[in-house]
Parts: sequence; structure tokens; C-alpha cells
Amino acid sequence: MRKIVIAIDGPAASGKSTTARLVAQQLDYLHIDTGAMYRAITLRVLQENIPLGDVERIKALAEATTIRLERSDQGNKVFVDGRDVTEAIRSAKVTVNVSTVSSYQSVRAVLVREQRRIAAQGGVVLEGRDIGTVVLPNADLKIYMVADVAKRAERRKKELALMGTEVDHQKLEEEILERDRQDSTRESSPLRKAPDARELDTSDLTIDKQVEFVVQQARKIIEGN
Ligand code: C5P
Repeated sequence: MRKIVIAIDGPAASGKSTTARLVAQQLDYLHIDTGAMYRAITLRVLQENIPLGDVERIKALAEATTIRLERSDQGNKVFVDGRDVTEAIRSAKVTVNVSTVSSYQSVRAVLVREQRRIAAQGGVVLEGRDIGTVVLPNADLKIYMVADVAKRAERRKKELALMGTEVDHQKLEEEILERDRQDSTRESSPLRKAPDARELDTSDLTIDKQVEFVVQQARKIIEGN
């Protein structure tokens, strides 16, 4: 059976991770959450107290850091230099600073190299901002997920509540829009829909429907239709 490469991109909190994880589960593929990789480097930058403008030190840190993603039922488990940082990379501090760190081309170069290495084996679902445009422009299937900002904030609010954090809806909307603004206006690999990506608006879709859409598209390609 042919093992294809699936690229899922889209703005913050559009449902990429959940969809990618479940699609990968159904196809028995590997799921790679590339946002988690940028978050992992950001966490290390904050832990080392490196000023966010110090591109040289951030680049050196990215080169010296080993990130490992492991499969789990909740999504990727993330290890940095052997330490489990799965929860730490979701902190508010990492979330507000990750777009700055990920705007540096030198950081991207390190992580994109690793993402391409993992994807080379096929049978993978990679999700992020630039997978279909830059990381894997020849991906077999490209999905661009979008959703109303109100719906995205609502979903994020529920996720955070499960982790024991209460955040105001309005504040979440503002954070999401600000992150999208930074991610789509940066010079290096800005968030864009690839011309050959299929857009999937998840505002009024259940998770099951989102997953079904992607799996159906994938099966058509796998079966050669
Ligand atoms: O997907 P998630 O929201 O966890 O991504 C965190 C951040 O990582 C994004 O806001 C973006 O700045 C960065 N990112 C990126 N390129 C990717 C994936 C994520 O720049 N492929």
C-alpha cells in the first residue's frame, strides 16, 4: 500500500492538531506537530533567559537542542534533550513568545531540515503553518484548515479549562488574532494557503466530520483515484 505525505496548515487553534492526530491514527501514520517543535525551542530560550532579539544565541540553541516527538493518545508527547516538556510548551508565556522565535529563518532552517527528514519515509501527517508551501511543497495531499475566530477561541478555552486554566474568551480571541497576524506577516515562510491546498472550514463541523473529510481525500490518493 502506498504511504503518502499529508500536509495540514492553518491559523492558530483551527483544529489542526486534533485532526492530524486522528487522521494519522486511522491511517496508521506518524503525526508530526511542527508547532510543538517551535514551542520547544521557545521554551528553551525562555529557560535560558536569552533575550528574544538575540538571533545568534537563539540559532545556536536551536542547533544544540534535540527534540523528540512520541506518539500518544492525546497528541505528540514532546521531549527536549530527554526531558518531557509536553505540558510546559503549552504555557501562556511560550504561547505569546513563540511567533517571535519562529520568525527567525535560522531557527526555521534547523527545524525544517528535521521535518523533511521525518517525512522522507512517507506515511506521515505533518501539521503547521508552512508545510504545504515550504517544508513539503510536493506533499500528496494538502489541507488548509480555517474556522471563525469565535469558534477557535471557544475551543481553546475548553482545552485550557481541561488543563485547569480559566481564560477570558475575549482575551483568547485577541491572542489568537495577534498570533495569526505575526505568523502571516513575517518574512520567512509566512502562513499562507498553498495554491493546491483544499480549504476546510471547521467552524460548523464536528471533529468526526473534519477527520472523515481528510481521510476520504487521502484514501482516494492512496488507492490511485
Ligand atoms: O500550532 P501551534 O499553535 O502550536 O504553533 C505555535 C507557533 O509555532 C505558531 O504560532 C507559529 O508561530 C509557529 N509555527 C511555525 N511554523 C509551523 C508551525 C508552527 O512558524 N510549521
